[in-house]
Amino acid sequence: MSNRCIYQPKGAAKEYGAWACNLYNGCSHHCDYCYCKRGVWVNTMGVDKPELKAMLGKDENEAYLIFARELKQHRDKILAAGDGLFFSFSTDPMLREEIDLTMRCVQECVIQDIPVQILTKATWWTRCGNEYEDDYLRRLVAWNNYVTIGVTLTGHDELEADAPTNKERIDLLSRLHTLHIPTFVSLEPVVDFESSLKMVLDTLHYTAEYRIGLMSPIKKDRYNHAQCERFCNKVTELSREYGFTVKWKKSIRDFYEEGLSLMKLMK
Ligand code: SF4
Repeated sequence: MSNRCIYQPKGAAKEYGAWACNLYNGCSHHCDYCYCKRGVWVNTMGVDKPELKAMLGKDENEAYLIFARELKQHRDKILAAGDGLFFSFSTDPMLREEIDLTMRCVQECVIQDIPVQILTKATWWTRCGNEYEDDYLRRLVAWNNYVTIGVTLTGHDELEADAPTNKERIDLLSRLHTLHIPTFVSLEPVVDFESSLKMVLDTLHYTAEYRIGLMSPIKKDRYNHAQCERFCNKVTELSREYGFTVKWKKSIRDFYEEGLSLMKLMK
């Protein structure tokens, strides 16, 4: 039987992880740049509210059983690939509608000794003073040898209409850092280099890793080669000074190299 939720991403997504899991389609953050709202995916992954994938059965219990079966089937290959299981490319797995199934599946990964990466813009689940919400944090603290939380930052709230603000997401990073829960910052998409550099400067005490990629498709005139070079050089300098790692995605590596080639031609 074909895979219903665990799969091997292709293209740019593969740079985030060799294995991924999509349990839901759709997202209520309504980002203008959302890749799910384009092309052939618009009527499935691009819907405005998360919906359990139809092929995962009638409810979360059935979905969980399918997940557990596929996890067992692929466990050795996921471990061999080295970067664990990535949640998710078709939604935000920490949305209120999804988080309980996400956490149940993450727990199954922990039991199976499989590392997990969760990419989110949601912050509601980490607020102090609510026993129910803080329960998620308590579990993540207990699983901190397995779970890494990725937080997307662009510095452009106006493009992320119904997501928590970038400031709220930075506060989330700070809290996770205090609790020793590993994190990474996804600077993807870079909307402009100045805003992305500000996001680095605002978070470099809270995370050990940045993943940086441009907005696809790369339209002519969206980015400037000289600004790209200055940004890359500055982030590299900061990474040496503060000891964080940077995963430059192919989109920005290619644009940077293109800029260098053009400079050589002009000399
Ligand atoms: S958070 Fe991600 S999946 Fe959700 S709307 Fe924004 S880009 Fe799309």
